[in-house]
Amino acid sequence: MAYDFDLFVIGAGSGGVRAARFSAGFGARVAVAESRYLGGTCVNVGCVPKKLLVYGAHFSEEFEHAKGFGWTVGETSFDWSTLIANKDREIHRLNEIYRNLLKSSGVTLIEGHARLRGPHEVEINGQIHTAEHILIATGGWPQVPEFPGREHAITSNDAFFLDQLPKRIVVVGGGYIAVEFASIFLGMGADTTLMYRGELFLRGFDGSVRQHLREELTKQGLGIQFNTDIASIEKLADGTLQVELKDGRSLNTDCVFYATGRRPMLDDLGLDTVDVQLNGKGFVEVNDNYQTSEPSILAIGDVIGRVPLTPVALAEGMAVARRLFKPDEYRPVDYTHIPTAVFSLPNIGTVGLTEEDAKKAGHQVHVFESRFRPMKLSLTDDQERTLMKLVVDVNTDKVLGCHMVGPDAGELIQSLAIALKAGATKRIFDDTIGVHPTAAEEFVTMRTVTR
Ligand code: FAD
Ligand code: NDP
Repeated sequence: MAYDFDLFVIGAGSGGVRAARFSAGFGARVAVAESRYLGGTCVNVGCVPKKLLVYGAHFSEEFEHAKGFGWTVGETSFDWSTLIANKDREIHRLNEIYRNLLKSSGVTLIEGHARLRGPHEVEINGQIHTAEHILIATGGWPQVPEFPGREHAITSNDAFFLDQLPKRIVVVGGGYIAVEFASIFLGMGADTTLMYRGELFLRGFDGSVRQHLREELTKQGLGIQFNTDIASIEKLADGTLQVELKDGRSLNTDCVFYATGRRPMLDDLGLDTVDVQLNGKGFVEVNDNYQTSEPSILAIGDVIGRVPLTPVALAEGMAVARRLFKPDEYRPVDYTHIPTAVFSLPNIGTVGLTEEDAKKAGHQVHVFESRFRPMKLSLTDDQERTLMKLVVDVNTDKVLGCHMVGPDAGELIQSLAIALKAGATKRIFDDTIGVHPTAAEEFVTMRTVTR
């Protein structure tokens, strides 16, 4: 049968755009549908605007540090609406870059909500398009639990467009988004509380990292409330939110921000017209080739719920494009040693196994841990400390994991990921000459086993 397209991609986010552009580059006839914003979550309400806000939040600390270096910093003030307007302008510029990228790659962009109508059919704007392969790359959406007054809570989708900086804010959750936004609001001067239901935030990260970040954020004045959850929110006549906690306490605030995970975006996608199975958590089930149980339909990115990070969605998009249209260049995605950063202030950078997971996996480990006050702070009153940690297999000497909490950890961890991917041993770390004076050199000068 002759199809309109070789590949129809639903969703012009990180994964969808990558798959569409490269497939077209390999000679395929490709269409991509986008209902909301070109570039998807990352560009519009994720990585990019978040990082811009993190940069913005950092200045308050920089102004303080500058004094120690002889600068007289005049009276400073922060204008949220200027930052948001400038951010919006930049995002609009990126949207247009995405539009041009798709156009110049020869991809047909169709703006509107796409619905599956069968294994080879997609309906959009009342028109049916046929394709040999269909790729679901529809991403995710913030998830807020059910409780009385949840309609008064905002999510990351709203946080980027608030009219003004709240004076007081409660951020609920203990994952990436909660920790990053707690740093953003704190840095901008809001009275900020981070509320998490468990013992310690960032479950799954290395224990030393979680503890260290807790200490640093506490020093900065973040109100940390662990083992705490919200029972209800009531909006008072003056707009104040009255929050009742499950332990019977209550507090008043101006904004409650829920960052309690993300669900797959499958709304009104027409899944009832095809045989696409979902897994137990509601994400699209795929095999190693990103094929769903409906062989002509594939899925990648956040909607499959494997590793919800932009570079992973990009890698999956690339793998799909190559497997379908350039099979001699196909390489499966390697999910080991994925580096990641939490852009809290200070950052977390991490790659490889945590100490806890290495032990659980049966490794006998040596841990090298260093905590120090960065040189840049030596002329300031800032008592922030940096953590660096290596987890090493005693038997093979291989470095299993590198973890850091400190300035620019997100930048630094990328190169360490290359070393780990190449199978570097602790001996190779030791034989590497440091760059002096940097914080990074500590990673090649830790000689004494901590445990
Ligand atoms: P998305 O980028 O979400 O794209 C899906 C697209 O599909 C969207 O544009 C959507 O509008 C469209 N769509 C959905 N349904 C339809 C339909 N039926 N018809 C047409 N179009 C449809 N990752 C990092 O690596 N680093 C970070 O710093 C980082 N920060 C983040 C910060 C926040 C606040 C959030 C929420 C996420 C962050 N992420 C970060 C995660 C990253 O944004 C995602 O992993 C990534 O965007 C996933 O890409 P995707 O292609 O799967 O989906
Ligand atoms: P995460 O899955 O990282 O964290 C969700 C948090 O919410 C966890 O602490 C979880 O607790 C808590 N939680 C879940 N359900 C409830 C509930 N019903 N009540 C109270 N707390 C609850 O999700 P995020 O929303 O922070 O981020 C989504 C994903 O986006 C991340 O996993 C990450 O992959 C990606 N991302 C990446 C970033 C980066 O690369 N820098 C930045 C932002 C997002 P518990 O641990 O107890 O389950």
